[in-house]
Amino acid sequence: MRAITRLCRGEYATVRQLEQQSYRLLKPLVVVFGVGALLCLTSLLTVLGALICAVTGVLLVGVFVWMIQLQKRPRRDLRCPYCTNRNSVFEGIEQFDCDFCERPVRFDEKGTAVPADDSFQSRPTSVYDLPVE
Ligand SMILES: [Zn+2]
Repeated sequence: MRAITRLCRGEYATVRQLEQQSYRLLKPLVVVFGVGALLCLTSLLTVLGALICAVTGVLLVGVFVWMIQLQKRPRRDLRCPYCTNRNSVFEGIEQFDCDFCERPVRFDEKGTAVPADDSFQSRPTSVYDLPVE
């Protein structure tokens, strides 16, 4: 159920995160649908199985349509400043965790993806970056 509230609140920044939330929602529905299908094969609980299949089937289709609608939101591809892998980030997101290295990424005033934990500024990359004493 937490997956539903996360999806409703828009607690996903990238397409991959949206897909992960969707699978978390779809998995139990598929399991219940399977149980319903098995009950249909029995002689005593066929009606119950058919009912379960019908309800979960409608829910599955509804969730699929909802996922497709959520994925249609405008988004842009950007490279992670840490690992340079491509993330498909939804518009309006101010900060997100990279899908691959899971480190925080934010946007600077130009809209460029930059590290959110300031690790690149705090760690000098060459001796010329060290403060002169
Ligand atoms: Zn990354």
